[in-house]
Amino acid sequence: MKTISKIAGMRRWSEAARAKGRRVAFVPTMGCLHEGHLSLVRKARREADLVVVSIFVNPLQFGPKEDFKRYPRNLRRDAGLARREGCDALFVPSPREMYPAGYRTRVTVEGTEEVLCGRSRPGHFSGVATVVLKLVNVVWPDVLLLGQKDAQQAVVIKRMLQDLNAGVRVVVCPTVREKDGLAVSSRNSYLSADERRRALGLSRSLFLARRLVRTGERRAAVIIAGMRKVLSEAGVTDVDYLEILDAAELTPLRRLDGDVLIAAAARVGRTRLIDNVRLKV
Ligand code: AMP
Repeated sequence: MKTISKIAGMRRWSEAARAKGRRVAFVPTMGCLHEGHLSLVRKARREADLVVVSIFVNPLQFGPKEDFKRYPRNLRRDAGLARREGCDALFVPSPREMYPAGYRTRVTVEGTEEVLCGRSRPGHFSGVATVVLKLVNVVWPDVLLLGQKDAQQAVVIKRMLQDLNAGVRVVVCPTVREKDGLAVSSRNSYLSADERRRALGLSRSLFLARRLVRTGERRAAVIIAGMRKVLSEAGVTDVDYLEILDAAELTPLRRLDGDVLIAAAARVGRTRLIDNVRLKV
């Protein structure tokens, strides 16, 4: 596995791969790699000849009061994990390399600030869209792998790549969970033992929603009321949103029909957690 920190070096690597007719799969991450990330790397190996993983904690997608500074970083451990999973190139640019002095451009997918995480994280998805487009322009992949865990992010990135004719195929992989149901996330490391127990309310409420849908419930309000009860019983009081939407358009649904996304976000202690389930109704 080659570790590359410069844009020019990453470009040369990708150009050489392309010249040999190799297909490249790309997994962008913020590092602190866990089973969720590694599931994307495994899928990437099946989707292409070569796999590039990037590790970049993107300052553009953090709000001024968010956790950019304390976001967990562990490059040595990450490099070992990526190598073990068969990653071919690890791209680890510095903030300066990505955003040199004089940098001014942002990509915005219209409407993303009006739903779900967009409402409480202004500028977040334009930060995400911008960094992913930059990374795609450097890595030049055939296929991009994203996790369903960040459902809105996947919708925004897909839309952006399609709208800007990037010619990159997107594969969205299922959410990896801990044995007890908690969605694996780098931010879980912030949780105390008590918070970790309470955080389970999030996945429990989503699993309840899924059970209700399976037994025939179609009214969004009834499902959300059930979810609220589960969250409050678990001790999750600071709920940011509980929403039932069309999975592709992210428009709210009053009755569940078609490809449905049930999404939740809550603060447990100081940690903001998100989770979702996607259902074909
Ligand atoms: P992050 O490092 O949090 O920016 O995540 C990098 C990629 O890994 C994104 O596409 C995420 O959606 C994906 N990801 C994060 N957690 C999980 C998970 N538990 N299961 C599946 N994919 C995940």
